[in-house]
Amino acid sequence: MKYCARCLYPENARPTIILDEEGVCSGCRYHESRSKQLDINWEERVEMLVQILEEAKQMAKKRGNSHDCIVPVSGGKDSHFQVWLLKEKYGMNPLLVTFNHAYNTPAGNRNLANLVEKSGCDLVRYTAGLDSVRRISRYMLKEVGDLTWHYHAGIRTYPFQVAVERNIPLIVWGEHGFAELTGIVSLEDFVEFTRWTRKEHDMRGYEPQDLVGKGGITVQDIAPYVYPSDEDIARVGVRGIYLSNFVYWNATRQAEQMMKTWDFAPITFERERSFNLHGKIEDHANDVHDYLKYLKFGYGRATDDASMEIRHGRMSREEGMAMVKRYDDREPSTLEFYCDFLGITKQQFYDWVEPMRDANLWEKNAAGEWEAQDAVYRHDIGEIEERSRVTPSEERTLSEANRRMYYNPANPPLESGELSLDQPSPSFKVV
Ligand SMILES: [Zn+2]
Repeated sequence: MKYCARCLYPENARPTIILDEEGVCSGCRYHESRSKQLDINWEERVEMLVQILEEAKQMAKKRGNSHDCIVPVSGGKDSHFQVWLLKEKYGMNPLLVTFNHAYNTPAGNRNLANLVEKSGCDLVRYTAGLDSVRRISRYMLKEVGDLTWHYHAGIRTYPFQVAVERNIPLIVWGEHGFAELTGIVSLEDFVEFTRWTRKEHDMRGYEPQDLVGKGGITVQDIAPYVYPSDEDIARVGVRGIYLSNFVYWNATRQAEQMMKTWDFAPITFERERSFNLHGKIEDHANDVHDYLKYLKFGYGRATDDASMEIRHGRMSREEGMAMVKRYDDREPSTLEFYCDFLGITKQQFYDWVEPMRDANLWEKNAAGEWEAQDAVYRHDIGEIEERSRVTPSEERTLSEANRRMYYNPANPPLESGELSLDQPSPSFKVV
C-alpha cells in the first residue's frame, strides 16, 4: 500500500485521493492552497457572504418569515460556530434544524441543549423512531457496511423539507467536508449543496425509495429522507451554501472560541478510536462506524485526525503514526451493543463485512483470520517523507495548552464534573 508522503492517508482512502508525482495527496495539496491562501481574497469572500445574508433578510421580510435562514445543527462544535457567526456577527435570525438520528451520546445531548440555550434561537428537531432506525441501519449495514446511512440521509434532507414547508430559501452549512479531507473540489468552485452531492456523497448513491420493501423497510420509514420535488425547491428558491467557502475555516480555533464564548464542552475521557476530544463527540455510533472503515480499507479516525494535525504542522509524522498504531485497529466496546440492537450476532457482523474488505490490504492467515498486510507505521520515514514535511507550527497537538482538545496519555484532561462529559456511555440516548 502506498501512503501519502506528508499525511498518513493510504492510496485507497475514501473518498478518493490522488497522490502526485512527489507522493503528496490531493487533500494535503488542497490544505496547502488554503493555508497559504493562494489567490484567495477572504475579504472579498466575506463581502459576498454578507450580500447573500442581506438578500436573505430582505426575502424574509418580503415573505413575512420570522426566520431568514436555516442552520442544520447537531450540537457539535461546528454547529455552535455557525449559529454564533450568523447570529452574533451578521445579525441573522436562523431557524436551527436538527435531524435526530437517535444514536446520541450524553455529551451530544448536553451540547445541543447548550447551543439552544446560549444562542436563544428557535429549534425544530425531528426524532426518527427506533423501529425505522433499526430496520434501515440493519439493512444498510448488510448492504454497504454502513449503519449510519440514516444520519447522512436525514441531516442532508430534513432541512430541505423544513425549508420548503416554511418557505425559507437559504440553508447555511458549515464546512464542505469532502474538500477538506481529500481536495476533490477546490475553493474556486464555490460549490453549493445539490441534490446530486447529497445522493452521491452523503447517501452512497441510494435514494430512500430504493430501500422500500428491503429488510422490512416501509414507505413510512423513509419519510424524513425524501427530498422535496424539483418544483417545490424551485418555488421556494432553496439554495444551500457552505460557510467554509466564504470564511477561513479553522475547526480547532473555532471549537476553542465556542468553548470560551458559549460553553461548548469537549469530553474528558479517552475515546476508543481517536485522540480527538472535541470532534463528532455527539455521535454514539461513530466508533462502530469508524471501525467499519478500518475493516474495509485498513485505516480509521486516528488516521483522519492525525493527518489533519500533520497538515497544520501541529503533529510530526512520527507522533501521528503512534496515534494510528494506538487506535486504528481497536474493536470498539460498543460493537456488541449495536449488534444486540440490530438483532444480529458479532459473527454475523463480521460475515457481512467480509466481502467489503479491500483485497489489496486484507488477507486471511493460516488460522483463517483476517490480517491487515500493511499499515502506515510499518513504513520507514525515507527521503520523500522528509522532503514532504510541512514547517512545524509552534502550537503542538499534545501540549498543555491543548489538554482539553486532544487526549494525551501523558497528560490527560481534568474531569469537568459533568457526568455526560466525564464518562463514556455504553448505550445511545434517543432524546
Ligand atoms: Zn496527504
